[in-house]
Amino acid sequence: MKSLNFDNQFTAQMPGDTDTGSQRKQLKDALFSRVNPTPVSGPQLVHYSEDAAALLGLSREDCTGDEFLQVFAGNLLLENMDPHATCYGGHQFGNWAGQLGDGRAINLGEVTLGDTHLMLQLKGAGPTPFSRTADGLAVLRSSLREYLCSEAMYYLGVPTTRALSLITTGEEVVRDMMYDGNAAPEKGAVVCRLSSSFVRFGHFQMLAAREELDLLREFTDFVIRREFPHLDNLVADTKGTYIAWFEEVCDRTADLMVEWMRVGFVHGVMNTDNMSILGETIDYGPYGWLEGFDPNWTPNTTDAGQRRYRYGQQPAIGQWNLMQLANAILPLIEDPKPLEDALSAYVTRYEAGWQNTMTAKLGLKEYNKDIVDRLLNLLTVSETDMTLFFRALADINHDTEQPLTDLAHCYYTPEQLQESEQATIQTWLADYLRVLEEQGQSDASRRTVMNQTNPKYVLRNYLAQIAIDSAEAGDFSKVDELLNVLKKPYDEQPEYEHLAAKRPEWARNRAGCSMLSCSS
Ligand code: AMP
Ligand code: MG
Repeated sequence: MKSLNFDNQFTAQMPGDTDTGSQRKQLKDALFSRVNPTPVSGPQLVHYSEDAAALLGLSREDCTGDEFLQVFAGNLLLENMDPHATCYGGHQFGNWAGQLGDGRAINLGEVTLGDTHLMLQLKGAGPTPFSRTADGLAVLRSSLREYLCSEAMYYLGVPTTRALSLITTGEEVVRDMMYDGNAAPEKGAVVCRLSSSFVRFGHFQMLAAREELDLLREFTDFVIRREFPHLDNLVADTKGTYIAWFEEVCDRTADLMVEWMRVGFVHGVMNTDNMSILGETIDYGPYGWLEGFDPNWTPNTTDAGQRRYRYGQQPAIGQWNLMQLANAILPLIEDPKPLEDALSAYVTRYEAGWQNTMTAKLGLKEYNKDIVDRLLNLLTVSETDMTLFFRALADINHDTEQPLTDLAHCYYTPEQLQESEQATIQTWLADYLRVLEEQGQSDASRRTVMNQTNPKYVLRNYLAQIAIDSAEAGDFSKVDELLNVLKKPYDEQPEYEHLAAKRPEWARNRAGCSMLSCSS
């Protein structure tokens, strides 16, 4: 395999624990522990992402060879790797949970790529000091979901960690998938993820909670210098730099929320330990894609009661999480005012971003509150497939004779649409077309903008489950097919029309399709 150039700035500059190995412990005065991946007996490559590999300069030959397999299964370390797990805390479902940390993630090292760098991280490669009572492993089902979705998000244009490889370990991992006492063995797997940094809000929170303010400052300076070099004015204006940095984290988080809302993605577990400091989507667990447009929907059964992380609440939770980050870094700035201002600016930025997105989703030239608000209401009247609806809407214009017939396939039960509901839709359509005309928007340019904003192909929950079912039976061809289609989510790709279809009835209440737990 082509050699990778490691420059492990994080472990070189930040203090690590003096102990090594996976003995569970509460860390103090350190940010990470050195720990090696646990070797596995029968690694098999399920898939690798050619485009993610290209970021590292790895070719097809590199990725299909034995060395690649052994390294990314956790059996072999390359020269100058420095495997370690990092320590963070977090608020889980609104409550401070104390130390969490990389319980089953092991950073292998940072690859230097000109002016940038990528951390290689294995997920599911065995226990670390932060595994608490768990095993540090991951099953094929959840690994496949992470692998497919992170690449799909990248192609949709949504900031995300990347996935390089998905490897089954040849070992069994026992999981009680629905937490109902039916534990069963599943295939074990390891994903290799890539990001410039896997630092989470929870890293800062942990240091603040331990009241290690010098280390908090050192770590914050490190993150700014390494990941936000354009802001680095730490020597001349230390506090000003911290403030500018927090403002940028707020901006990136707001932008990420706009993107999730645009494509209908529900993360499912927006705990502060699952919030990337870079504003990337991170930790694909019980996430889901909106099928019927429903702001109250969450795929996560663990959150079914409270629905804290439902689709419509994600932007507000983003702000709540930023507030926890602000609390953690307040000792560095000492004045809450600029942090409060940044949190207010988050709302303004999110609102503006959301308005721009809805304007583009509808192909308007200018935002129109009345049209948007009425549409969002309309979409909830009868179960309406969000993805199909916006694509179908792009094709409706003044010449469309029977717009409702053209939209019928977007509804899960079109035959149940009441006459009054049909009339409301018709009225909205007429008003929408009138507004477009008033704005001087042509059908052709509207269609272009809409189809660049509204994906045709998303990783529908049932599609992921079909790929999982066949992968568990040893057939990985569906993974390949799905990824190929999801690479061009805005293209029509008529030969793959079946992968744009709305959820079939069998998937409505099936575990894995509409209900997911945190078990992974
Ligand atoms: P999550 O809900 O996936 O964000 O995980 C919350 C915390 O639990 C993180 O610290 C994870 O590293 C840890 N964790 C989740 N699953 C496992 C596992 N199978 N083994 C060890 N730690 C885990
Ligand atoms: Mg997590």
